[in-house]
Amino acid sequence: MGSIQILLRQHVGAPCEPIVKAGDNVEKGTLIATPTGLGANIFSSVYGVVEEVKEDRIIIKPDEEQKETFVPINVPEDASKLDMVKAAGIVGMGGAGFPTGVKIDTDLQGGYILINAAECEPGLRHNIQQIEEEADKVIRGVKYVMEISNAGKAIFAIKKKNGKAVKVLKEALKNEPAISIHLLADIYPMGEERAVVRECLGIELDPTKLPLAANSIVINVETLARVAEAIDEKKPCFSKNLTVIGKLNGGNEPHVYMDVPVGTSVGELIERAGGIDGVYGEIIMGGPFTGKATTLEAPITKTTGGIIVTMEFPDLHGANVGLLVCACGGDEERMRDVCQKMNGTVVSVARCKQAMEMKNGALKCERPGICPGQAKNNLQFKKDKAEYIIIGNCSDCSNTVMGSAPKMKLKVFHQTDHVMRTIGHPLYRYLKVSKTVDQDI
Ligand code: SF4
Repeated sequence: MGSIQILLRQHVGAPCEPIVKAGDNVEKGTLIATPTGLGANIFSSVYGVVEEVKEDRIIIKPDEEQKETFVPINVPEDASKLDMVKAAGIVGMGGAGFPTGVKIDTDLQGGYILINAAECEPGLRHNIQQIEEEADKVIRGVKYVMEISNAGKAIFAIKKKNGKAVKVLKEALKNEPAISIHLLADIYPMGEERAVVRECLGIELDPTKLPLAANSIVINVETLARVAEAIDEKKPCFSKNLTVIGKLNGGNEPHVYMDVPVGTSVGELIERAGGIDGVYGEIIMGGPFTGKATTLEAPITKTTGGIIVTMEFPDLHGANVGLLVCACGGDEERMRDVCQKMNGTVVSVARCKQAMEMKNGALKCERPGICPGQAKNNLQFKKDKAEYIIIGNCSDCSNTVMGSAPKMKLKVFHQTDHVMRTIGHPLYRYLKVSKTVDQDI
C-alpha cells in the first residue's frame, strides 16, 4: 500500500484543521483533523505514521500489517444518535459532501426521507451493489435518520432498470409500511436533488429552494449505510465505496470496491482493476457528466464515486467549436478542457436557458432533465461559425439538440462520448426511453 493522502477539505465548508504532526502514530479511526466552521471530522483510514502535514493534506505512511479493527468515535455513553453522526464525520457521499449531521439536524414534522438510489452517472454501480448486498444496513440507516429528523415516511428513488436491487429492496421492506419504493426512468439527471423530490413527491422546487421546502431530505444510499455504522458500531467515516471503470486490463465492466481507505491514490485503484490497457485519453475522478480530469497520484476523498480511464479523444485538427453548457453536466471549464483535448478551438459558448446561475456562481437547472428547447443556441453557434458543437446536456436536451443541429450542419459531440464509447454505453444523442416511469411500489 502506497502513502495515504488525506485532504483537509472533503466537504462543503472550510478546510479542517490538522491535530496531528509528522511522526505521530495513528490508528484506523484516529481523529486527525477537525472542522473550523461548517465541516466534518476527518480520521486516519489506516494504521501508520504521519509523514507530513501540508497546507491542504495529511500524508500517512501505512504500516505493512493492517488490522480490521478501528478506534471508535469518542462520544459519551449517553450520546444521542445525531451526536454520533456528527462525531463520525459523515458527509453526503453521493458527491455533494454536505455534512450529514447538519443536514439531518431538523424537524421534518412527519415529512419525508427520500433515499437517492438513482446512481445517475452512467457506469457507476457501487450504490446499487450496496443495496443488493447490504439492504438491511441501508434500511437501518434510513430508520435512524427518520427518527433523528422526525420524518413519517421514506421513499427509495431507484431506476427501474436495476431489477435485482429493486427485488432485494421489496423483500427487505415487506414489514416496513413507512418505507416505499419509487421507480425512476433511466434518463440523466434523475439523481439531482430536486429531480428526486419532483419524481417522488410531485413537487417542483425552484433552483433556490432546498428539499426542506418540500418537507423532505434527500440522502444518498452510502451515506445512510455510514449513518448505520456510526450508530451501531461507533465507526468513524474513513472509507469510501466506488466504481473503477474504463480502458482497463481487467475489462471495461464496472469494478466495484467497497470500504476503500480515504486517501488511497487513483493509481492504486486502477492497478487493482488490472491497470490501464494501452494508450488512453484521460482519467476522470467522478462520473462521466460531473467528474473532472485527474491524475494517478490524486487521492480519493469521502465524496469520490468513480474513477474512469477513457479511450483516446478524436482529433478535430483545430476546427471551430461551440460549447453548450448544462447545469447538471460539466461546467464551462470542464467543457473547455474536453475541447482542448479534442484539439478544437472554442469560438462560442452558450448555456441551456434552464441553467440558472446561483449566488455562489454555480449553475442549477430549473427543471432537471426536462428540455426547454435548444434551437436558439444552435443558431448562435452557426452565427459564430462553429463547425462542431460539444454539448454537456441531460438526456432530454441532447435529444432536442439533435432535432436542429444536423439540419444546420453542426456536427455534435457530447462531453461524455469518449467515456460512453469506452464502456460500451449508448451515446447521449437520441432519447430512446420514455421520460417517466412514475411508479410507486
Ligand atoms: S434542462 Fe438544461 S440545464 Fe437542465 S438538465 Fe437539461 S440541459 Fe441541463
